Amino acid sequence: MGSAGVLSSVARRLEGKVALITGGASGIGKATAKLFARYGARVVIADVQDDKGHELCRDLGPNVVSYVHCDVTDESHVREAVDSTMSRHGKLDIMFNNAGIIGSPGMQILETDKANFEKVVGVNLVGCYLGTKQAARVMIPARQGSIVMTASVAGVIGALTPHAYTCSKHAVVGLMRGAAVELGQFGIRVNCVSPYLVATPLASKAFSRDEEKLEEFAEEHAVLKGKTLKAEDVAEAVAYLGSDEAGYVSGLNLPVDGAFTKTNTALG
Ligand code: NAD
Repeated sequence: MGSAGVLSSVARRLEGKVALITGGASGIGKATAKLFARYGARVVIADVQDDKGHELCRDLGPNVVSYVHCDVTDESHVREAVDSTMSRHGKLDIMFNNAGIIGSPGMQILETDKANFEKVVGVNLVGCYLGTKQAARVMIPARQGSIVMTASVAGVIGALTPHAYTCSKHAVVGLMRGAAVELGQFGIRVNCVSPYLVATPLASKAFSRDEEKLEEFAEEHAVLKGKTLKAEDVAEAVAYLGSDEAGYVSGLNLPVDGAFTKTNTALG
């Protein structure tokens, strides 16, 4: 292949793929929907922010990106999101379980009430489980598929985010590992991305800073200097895991953290 051929194959690396993205109306999910569309995929966004979801469809074109209202904690919603993807596009190649919340900002166990703990685990972990289960329902007969989940650096180290969030993200990594082993027999790959801080509404709430101040904060504490982590950088890692280029990659928790989790640093 000549250099022009290599470039065009990278530019359209998800040509013909169909992806369902939870939490696709904002932040990392939105950046991923945009990148997937640019790489040639057709995308269904599942979220609870209907206005933002519809706006993104209008921006990217309704033939490329469509929206479905879906609370990931409700199995009937997740089932419906998968079914509507199947009836619209006839298949599901990439399931991106990305929806997440930070919950109440208290960092310590004694500050975390049970209702908040259950809510955070409900969206961040149970949402990933339901997305994995419903995607597997249609991927198993197809004998192929890629499931990606958004874990976090908070799924690797303990002293960073509120207790419930930290627990939920560690558990997402466990869910991914178990599902990767179980679903491998059907040709389905399962992986996680684990980003460092990205300026999104979720992270602003977590660190009580507006998005601009959050980027300064993130840069200050980053190990990798000279670059600010953006949602688009995480989207590129998700695109790789979803693509055929990662055809034998499964069971991986891919850090998108500039080596942050390889130090003893905890954000103060
Ligand atoms: P965000 O707030 O911009 O996006 C989260 C999206 O999830 C929103 O569109 C929201 O409406 C949706 N959502 C929330 N609850 C939902 C539910 N019950 N059902 C369906 N959708 C729901 O935040 P983000 O930072 O882009 O978060 C995306 C993922 O990335 C989350 O899983 C988060 O934990 C993870 N993450 C974020 C960072 C960061 O620094 N921003 C770092 C590591 C991991």
